[in-house]
Amino acid sequence: MMPKTMSVMRTVAPHKLGVFEEKIPEIKNNQCLIRLERWSVCGSDIKSGWDHKKNTRGYPICHELAGTIIETKSEKFKIGQRVIALPSPVDIGGLCEFMVGIPEYMAKIPNEGDLSSWVTCQPAGTVLYSCQQIGTIIGKKVLILGQGGIGLSFAAIFARSGASQIICSDPIEERLRFSKNVGATHVINPIKTSIDDSVAEITNGAMADIVIEAAGYEQTLNDAFRLVKQYGKVIIFGMVRDGNNPSTLTSIATHYLLQNCPTIIPTVGGRSADPISHIQAMIDLKERGWWDPGELITHQLPFSKAQQAYEMYASRKDGVVKIVLHDD
Ligand SMILES: [Zn+2]
Repeated sequence: MMPKTMSVMRTVAPHKLGVFEEKIPEIKNNQCLIRLERWSVCGSDIKSGWDHKKNTRGYPICHELAGTIIETKSEKFKIGQRVIALPSPVDIGGLCEFMVGIPEYMAKIPNEGDLSSWVTCQPAGTVLYSCQQIGTIIGKKVLILGQGGIGLSFAAIFARSGASQIICSDPIEERLRFSKNVGATHVINPIKTSIDDSVAEITNGAMADIVIEAAGYEQTLNDAFRLVKQYGKVIIFGMVRDGNNPSTLTSIATHYLLQNCPTIIPTVGGRSADPISHIQAMIDLKERGWWDPGELITHQLPFSKAQQAYEMYASRKDGVVKIVLHDD
């Protein structure tokens, strides 16, 4: 029997999820109803929704979602199809048991394989999108600042795309071990050594052709502009943001911009005209055995333990890289 209501979690105070019992949504023409089975915790949740101040209905959170279609009014998606689904732009949170699926926001997952592993194709797909904006990677010296799930995905994809050097930087040693596993050629802990000297030494003084900012701090953004070679490229992926304030200002040492004159490419796949094809492309590449972003999963918890999962993710302790929630 299909239940009439479902649990929905939203942030009701900074770092506090509230549980709401709400009606299961009804689908309109061309839509599907998805029973969600996996929810993956993302750094952008921590930087925005997790910190959000209280409002009556709570603040929606979570956008890395996978599940199975249980009702359909779409020609393209049949009942029983497993999908990665993005929340609709109307309700941007997916920490709920059932969700309306819109075809333009859904990617098909093969029948075989662990769904926890498949859901990680969502964040990895956004990295794939970012890489598509860079131009050729073959033979390039790449520096990646930040080795969370996103920075590690960049490292894995560059390693499989012919970069000559993949230099990864992060202050957490456990993450640097991951970097090596996914294909980094060099790792730097900026707390232990000078990142400037290390990059100069590794690149033989040439500095990085491409720098990826995947940490989301004012300091790492400035590092990117300083460590890129002259006329190189800086890709901005991380969000430098104070809670939910979209007008947060960041200080930049313009001297390095004028000295190195990089081409700056900010990339956000989810806000592009087509937010799903790069995720479908990542699913297809994983199926082909090119790279399985599921190897970044360090923790799995039941949906009902979401509060704990977000706390763990935000703390960066216990070697946490990627946490996936599964249905209870
Ligand atoms: Zn995400």
